[in-house]
Amino acid sequence: MKVIVIGSSHGGYEAVEGLLESYPDADINWYEKGDFISFLSCGMQMYLEGDVKDVDSVRYMTKETMENRGVSVFPNHEITQIDAANHQLAITDLVTKKEYNEHYDKLILSPGAVPFELNLPNKNLGNIYYMRGRKWAIELKQKTVDYNVKNVVVIGGGYIGIEAAEVFAKAGKKVTIIDVIDRPLGVYLDKEFTDVLTKEMQENNISFALGEKVSEFIGNEKVEKVMTDKNEYQADLVIVAAGIRPNTAWLKNSIELHPNGLIKTDDYMRTSEEDIFAVGDATMIKYNPGNTHVNIALATNARKQGRYAVKNLEVANAPFPGVQGSSALSVFSYKFASTGLNEEMSGKLGIKTNSVMLKENYKMDFVPENSNAEVFFKLIYDPTTKEILGSQIMSKHDLTANINALSLAIQAKMTIEDLAYADFFFQPSFDKPWNIINESGLMALKKEK
Ligand SMILES: Cc1cc2nc3c(=O)[nH]c(=O)nc-3n(C[C@H](O)[C@H](O)[C@H](O)COP(=O)(O)OP(=O)(O)OC[C@H]3O[C@@H](n4cnc5c(N)ncnc54)[C@H](O)[C@@H]3O)c2cc1C
Repeated sequence: MKVIVIGSSHGGYEAVEGLLESYPDADINWYEKGDFISFLSCGMQMYLEGDVKDVDSVRYMTKETMENRGVSVFPNHEITQIDAANHQLAITDLVTKKEYNEHYDKLILSPGAVPFELNLPNKNLGNIYYMRGRKWAIELKQKTVDYNVKNVVVIGGGYIGIEAAEVFAKAGKKVTIIDVIDRPLGVYLDKEFTDVLTKEMQENNISFALGEKVSEFIGNEKVEKVMTDKNEYQADLVIVAAGIRPNTAWLKNSIELHPNGLIKTDDYMRTSEEDIFAVGDATMIKYNPGNTHVNIALATNARKQGRYAVKNLEVANAPFPGVQGSSALSVFSYKFASTGLNEEMSGKLGIKTNSVMLKENYKMDFVPENSNAEVFFKLIYDPTTKEILGSQIMSKHDLTANINALSLAIQAKMTIEDLAYADFFFQPSFDKPWNIINESGLMALKKEK
């Protein structure tokens, strides 16, 4: 059996690993249009901040490693068209410009996404960058030490924008984050959390221009200012982190896409065409807490989907279990994580929720201040069934692993009662006799009485 995998990032890599494990005799061809196999943008912040020195180490593996394991790897090769009826791909070798066709028995697509470009006047001025991929990582790294870059404007206050802002604030630049919505990280966290993080970022040389829409870039060759509907901001460097767009324009005539360009798939990762599977940022994913399908661009999702595409390659008998959209990030001295629904998401999906919010020290009062810390914890649940639907945690200590427990609770459809009396350990160096998760369940029970 000949299996072709397109895309060498998270989804594609996992599919190849799955194939090597489940189909050791398959003929695996792996295509990537970039010149570098398997760069991981997740590691970009660590590289830009100097924690990781070698940009080329930010990857899963090399072409040579995979070739030694029997995979034929083709960087600099772009798939331009799929002829699904005849199981053929049109491929361009981007170095030699040679075009040729290749047959497949099974095809796994993980073409991912590209940063959303703002189609604004002067968008092609110099020093307007994006935060994704190895090429931008190398260019941005140079800007962190460029003396001429004093004012940095980041467009977009989501995960990626915040990572970029933190990098440049730590590099001593004056950073402004512009966003149309009124809170940074508003998609991931509720206001009780983002108020604290906003203050934390302001104390670390980051200013905010919230509720403003970027209208134009001004400059002469290089960007000098960013104009919004309300103000103007000095900018020697602009980083656009205004969301992503699926990398699927080339698939328009081959397989069915949603109106927003995402690939239509079922719960077995199958596309509209026989023997073609799709995974990763270019697809929607089963979202358990909302009982729906949404696009959640996470490496974790792409990897799990990659595995499920392989599980269902010949017989569709392993439906994808779904995800909760669990994610974590550090913002200067705070570390936060979230899973499932928050108020923003439940509002968007029209799901009624109740919640409880705790803010306290996570260890007992006698524990000295220097080894204790405040924790913010929110539990969101269904007011009718009392099932857990979401949770957020934030502290200066790393308590993010609690969110993985909550993710499991959502997946297992546990209730506030289950959480209240769940068996968790106690030891004064770690927590309290009633763990924060127990406490949130107890509080929710009291509220619902
Ligand atoms: C700065 C940053 C930080 C992140 N941090 C995290 C994190 O901490 N945790 C987390 O879970 N997620 C994180 N993510 C998200 C994560 O990187 C993405 O969800 C993940 O990369 C998606 O993988 P993918 O395989 O779907 O697609 P992509 O990573 O977009 O890769 C798709 C690949 O396919 C190739 N390709 C596309 N079309 C073709 C074609 N026609 N022919 C040949 N090749 C093609 C592309 O060149 C690309 O290499 C981060 C993202 C960014 C940008």
